[in-house]
Amino acid sequence: MREGIHPKFVPCKVTCACGNSFETMSTQPELRLEICSSCHPFYTGQQKFINRGGRVEKFKKKFNME
Ligand SMILES: [Zn+2]
Repeated sequence: MREGIHPKFVPCKVTCACGNSFETMSTQPELRLEICSSCHPFYTGQQKFINRGGRVEKFKKKFNME
């Protein structure tokens, strides 16, 4: 492997639209995100569950919870 082919990784300050910021390694020293691990439904899990509310409704119907 020759050097210089791969982008150089530097400490990167990531700022999210939700106000959260964290450091990671990236090819740029600064990054702005619209979504991060704190506000992304995929990571919070809870929101994901709410977003797929249809499943909950089905579940409730199935077990006569309503
Ligand atoms: Zn965020």
